[in-house]
Amino acid sequence: MSKRDYYEILSVSKTATDSELKVAFRKLAMTYHPDRNPGNAEAEIKFKEINEAYQCLSDGQKRAAYDRFGHAAFQQGGGGPGFGNEFGDFMSDIFDNFFGDGRAAGGGRAAGGGARGGSTRERGADLRYNLEITLEEAFAGKAETIKMATAVTCETCSGTGAKAGSKPRPCQTCGGYGRVRAAQGFFAIERTCPTCHGRGEVIDDPCGACSGSGRVTRERTLSINVPAGVDDGLRIRLAGEGETGLRGGPAGDLYVFLSIKPHEFFQRDGADLFCRVPINMVTAALSGEITVPVIDGSQTQVRIPAGTQTAKQFRIKGKGMPVLRSRDVGDLYIQVFVETPQNLTKRQRELLQEFGQSASDDNHPESAGFFSKVRDFFDGFGGGAARQ
Ligand SMILES: [Zn+2]
Ligand SMILES: [Zn+2]
Repeated sequence: MSKRDYYEILSVSKTATDSELKVAFRKLAMTYHPDRNPGNAEAEIKFKEINEAYQCLSDGQKRAAYDRFGHAAFQQGGGGPGFGNEFGDFMSDIFDNFFGDGRAAGGGRAAGGGARGGSTRERGADLRYNLEITLEEAFAGKAETIKMATAVTCETCSGTGAKAGSKPRPCQTCGGYGRVRAAQGFFAIERTCPTCHGRGEVIDDPCGACSGSGRVTRERTLSINVPAGVDDGLRIRLAGEGETGLRGGPAGDLYVFLSIKPHEFFQRDGADLFCRVPINMVTAALSGEITVPVIDGSQTQVRIPAGTQTAKQFRIKGKGMPVLRSRDVGDLYIQVFVETPQNLTKRQRELLQEFGQSASDDNHPESAGFFSKVRDFFDGFGGGAARQ
């Protein structure tokens, strides 16, 4: 019985990145794990197959050998390379990755699948870049330069994967189609060509610089324009800026995931900004003007009327965040809280005591009203215990 293609077993494309492999492996291993399928021999075989495929493809050297020679790479001496059954080890690996960080998952292109037959060109992987900016930068927009290591076309072979002076030749097994038909009983089934692994061509003399893959890893510098008004969690797609394709295939996309640092003064709700500002008791009682910060770096004045209470909000129109791809602008809400004076001098204490003696319910209608309601409440019980 001929062995199945490792990439097929894991349902990933040949250009799958390490993290894509891991995600695919995790998913399958969870499904077919013997603990979850007690007594199911088929699941056990599947599980071993998945394990073997992953052990090979997750190891850079073994994968390169497999890419070039297929299963034959491991068949000398019989028995293949010692794929142990290190259940414990790699199950913990699965769970670490499951619950560790969610970064790598998601993003990538939906598993290669269909597009393979007959084509020697495979699309490059999508990439993710996490970019953290300040609220000020989200307000004004930002030109950002990022650096990242990514697969680019190999300069030595111009992406063909073949050594200078040589050319890939069409695969004889499949006639360049990438898939072969085999009769099995009454059925003819089609599967990935075992000689060229679906590429349709064979490289006899691989390029030394890229080991025949047609691409190499380089640090790339990219400029990104972050538009004004972006919000936390926004994703910017840069088409064609992901990994270069295999052997001249189209490039993947780059996804920039934005997060915005918490701000010292401002909380954001959509396009509106909120800022809590302390005001002193005298300003609150007698009226006055306070100076408040604005996200554009300027300041503005807010008139505080006499008798202002804690939690009162003042709206400053048009001083919030810009709305992405629109001319609308949010508002700035200033919420004040009255700060009770502390560390009084003897003289200040006397003045406040004097004020206290002259104060009436008219000065504090809120508390007068509240305590009169409390008295009524207790009178309802016939006690009047709370009477002062
Ligand atoms: Zn090359
Ligand atoms: Zn072939």
